[in-house]
This record gives sequence, C-alpha cells and structure tokens, in this order.
Amino acid sequence: MAEVLVLVDHVDGEVKKVTTELLTAARRIGEPAAVWVGGGADAGKAKLAEFGAQKVYTAPAELDDYVVAPKAELLAKLAGEKSAAAVLVSATPENKEIAGRTAVKLGSGVLTDVVDVTGELVAEHSIFGGAVVTHARVQSGVPVVAVRPNSVPAEPAEGAAEQEEVSVELSAAATGAKVVERVVQEKGARPELTEAAIVVSGGRGVGSDDFSVVEALADSLDAAVGASRAAVDSGWYPNQFQVGQTGKTVSPNLYVALGISGAIQHRAGMQTSKNILAVNKDPEAPIFELADFGVVGDLHTVAPQLTEEVTKR
Ligand code: FAD
Repeated sequence: MAEVLVLVDHVDGEVKKVTTELLTAARRIGEPAAVWVGGGADAGKAKLAEFGAQKVYTAPAELDDYVVAPKAELLAKLAGEKSAAAVLVSATPENKEIAGRTAVKLGSGVLTDVVDVTGELVAEHSIFGGAVVTHARVQSGVPVVAVRPNSVPAEPAEGAAEQEEVSVELSAAATGAKVVERVVQEKGARPELTEAAIVVSGGRGVGSDDFSVVEALADSLDAAVGASRAAVDSGWYPNQFQVGQTGKTVSPNLYVALGISGAIQHRAGMQTSKNILAVNKDPEAPIFELADFGVVGDLHTVAPQLTEEVTKR
C-alpha cells in the first residue's frame, strides 16, 4: 500500500489533535507516514502510533530554524522517494503555504480548506468563503491536501510508528529567511480556537470591551472564545481570536454567535461548523439564514440564562 505523508503539528513534542484527524483521513487512502520537523519526536511518537502511523520520518533539527520553504522541500523529496499516494497537512495559514510550495515542486495540484476526503482521493472542500462546497480531485502527480481542523473525526488504530531519520539538502532559496525568535502566545485555560469542539464568539452586539458575557458562556461549555472583526477592530478582543476571512477558520461541533450579523467575511471562517446557534436581537440578521438554532433577543439577557442552565447540568 502506498504511503500517505502527514505533516505533524506539534508543540514541543505534544502532538496536536488535528494530526490525529489527518492520520485517520490518511488511513482511508493508504498507509499513514508521519513527517516530524523539530524536536520532541521521541515524546510524540506514541500518540502517532495510537492513530495508525506506520512510519515516523524525522527531519534534521536545523529545518526548524527556517520558515516554510524547507518543509516544502522535505515533503516534496519524501513524496518522490517514497512514491507517496498523497501529502496531507492541516489547513493553517502556514501549512497552506507549505502545501502550495510542495505541489509546485511536485508538479501536482493542491486542494485547500478540505473538510472531508475519500479513499479515492476526492476531496470535499469549502470555497468562496464557505458559500459553496465542491468535490475535487487532483488530476496529475501527488495530491497535496490541506484539511481543516475538526473536519474528520479522529479514530484510533494501531500503528508501528517506526522511526526513520531523513536528510534533505536545502536549496539556498529555502534557507533565505531564518527564524530569529519564537514568542509563544499565552495558552490560557481555554481550548485552542481552531481545535476547540465548541466556540463561543462575540460581535459588535456585545457593545463594549467587557467580553465577560461571552467568556462566561464559553467557560460553562469548556469552549474557546472567538470574536468578529468588528469586535476586534473596536479593540474589544485580541486579534488572534478573530474568526473569518482575515482571521481564523474554525469547524467546531457547535459555534455560538452572540451579536454577530453574519457578514460573508465572518461566515468564511465558521460556515463549516457542524451546528450553529445564533443570538441576535434583529430577526432579519443574515446569521439566521445559516443558523441551525436561533434566538431572537438581547444577548446580555439570553447568554447569562444559557450559562446558568449549562452550569446547573
Ligand atoms: P455587525 O455587522 O455590526 O453586527 C452586529 C450584530 O449584533 C447585528 O446583527 C445586531 O443586530 C446585533 N446586536 C446588536 N446588539 C445586540 C444585542 N444586545 N443582543 C443581540 N444582538 C445584538 N469580519 C469578520 O468577522 N471576520 C473577518 O475575518 C473579516 N474579514 C474581512 C475582510 C475584508 C476584506 C472585509 C472588507 C471585511 C471583513 N470583515 C470580517 C468584516 C465584515 O464585513 C463585518 O463588518 C463584520 O463581520 C461585522 O461584525 P459583527 O457581525 O460583529 O458586527
């Protein structure tokens, strides 16, 4: 069976949930082989094995000193050498760039913002800001597929996670830009926005930089907090929490939109959520066209009631 390369997302050896989802998707296509860049592979290997990785390719540590280009060179080299069936990465902004560069090097094609993938390598992907879902297949070469976090449910399977060190001779272009410092953003007690099963977002309707009504509901649900660009631009919430076209893309099981009108640019970042609950005082707000559940009312009344009810259970 041909190998399917999966670029591992990890933080100091802790494998991110999205990688377990990619390994699950990879098993539908072929034999999952994880590609690890940076330190911590020894610590993370067990998790990869739990989700069916048969191989773990570890790259020279120096690759982590650079930005995206060396990772693309590594993936393209491995894909060629191993005659891989496909390359899967998570659809983060950085990985989408890696995916594009890898596909160019392989002379193949790239599919981004994929929300499902079949054994025949037909990818379902969300385009035009989530307004249209298409089914697409790369026609030539090794397909490179960027899958959105939370799109494919992770299912465990036993894998050997046999480790193999790989070398790659980096081009001058790949080493042109070097990372000089990494600043880890405070993680906080809440789940990471793009990986959270539930996201509660606040918009202009919150009315001030007091986001406690949004945070309280999020905490009662063990959810991440998000914000619309209007809330971020008003300085009410930090911009790393912005959801939308120019913010983060999320696909949680439940997305709660509090005081968000549902502009196309906001939808682009949350439209593929499995369930959407909107609270808005305007019954004509466009968010209701897309919501599975809607409450017409003042969020400052409705959200605390929800929080109270959830906390009781
Ligand atoms: P509004 O559109 O002002 O809506 C506020 C809503 O709150 C209204 O529906 C109102 O009825 C409701 N409301 C008010 N008070 C209450 C209350 N007390 N209780 C309940 N409901 C209440 N936007 C993003 O979000 N993310 C992006 O990434 C993004 N990228 C963009 C990129 C470009 C190039 C452009 C041009 C725009 C982008 N935008 C983005 C902005 C987008 O067009 C909207 O302006 C923005 O999403 C509006 O945010 P909002 O829904 O919070 O505010």
